[in-house]
Amino acid sequence: MDAEQIFPGVWELRTSYGVDTAELFTDGPMPHAAWFIAGDQSAILDPGPTSIAEELLDAIRKLGYETDLIDLVIPSHIHIDHAGASGWLVKELPHARAVFHTRGAPFMRDVARLTAGTADVFGEEWEEIFGPLLPVPDEKMTIVEDGSAFKLGGNDYRIVFMPGHSLDHIGIFDEGNKALYCGHGLGNYKPHRYMPDPPMTLPYFDVDASIESIRKARNLEPEYLLPVHSGFLASNPSFAIDAVERVTIELGEIIKKGMLEGLSDSDIENSVCRYMFADPSKSDRSYLPLVISYRTYYERQTAKAKKS
Ligand SMILES: [Zn+2]
Ligand SMILES: [Zn+2]
Repeated sequence: MDAEQIFPGVWELRTSYGVDTAELFTDGPMPHAAWFIAGDQSAILDPGPTSIAEELLDAIRKLGYETDLIDLVIPSHIHIDHAGASGWLVKELPHARAVFHTRGAPFMRDVARLTAGTADVFGEEWEEIFGPLLPVPDEKMTIVEDGSAFKLGGNDYRIVFMPGHSLDHIGIFDEGNKALYCGHGLGNYKPHRYMPDPPMTLPYFDVDASIESIRKARNLEPEYLLPVHSGFLASNPSFAIDAVERVTIELGEIIKKGMLEGLSDSDIENSVCRYMFADPSKSDRSYLPLVISYRTYYERQTAKAKKS
């Protein structure tokens, strides 16, 4: 695991593990970036799945910190590749509590639904990839909401509710460094492309909530963005935020138009490739999951409108 100090007392810990996911469209092992904030009220941000938890704790010990003293574990949202290790970590670390948004907490108190959802997306071999998924007991849980403020490593941080990628997604804003640990809230980044993908995911993606969350992030005027998986972004955050807002909205328009014209998912996917690439034949992977995530969102919206 690579460790890099990104701010005084804050380390980015990078590793990868053996899974290709539709979520990120990786064409190799899944990269993962977690962060360790040392000092008074120490924390691990976005711990990842249980399969990398031992490695994560070893990396923190190598930096010279006593992992038994870790206070908080804060995933950006309840998906296996971010919150998966929470239950294992609070069992392993005598003082640690896991921090969840009020909407996400029930999914970690009882992991049955998360287990079933993970098996749906990744198949029955999900546990081999991600490791075991343990629940987090109430007495080891801290529940937060939008605006919850707390000290990490002696500095001021604030929870920013950023739903869309999932219904419980949070960003963690470092007030002093003006750095936003944005999870998937500001899209998915691939190292060799300068354009982010929308914050899509399967099976649940809320397009309008995502756009609202992107705008909320812009209002924080962050000077640094730290997206999950890819880690610290050196680019100007305002460019990244403008780009992800634009791509999220414009892909929505393309996909909605295709649906109205009665096109198949794969025909809509072709339109998406023509939009994303100067030369669509250079498209490096399938955009089908993206098309399906938007389509199912619009179908849910239409069904809701019919009901009311
Ligand atoms: Zn996710
Ligand atoms: Zn992820």
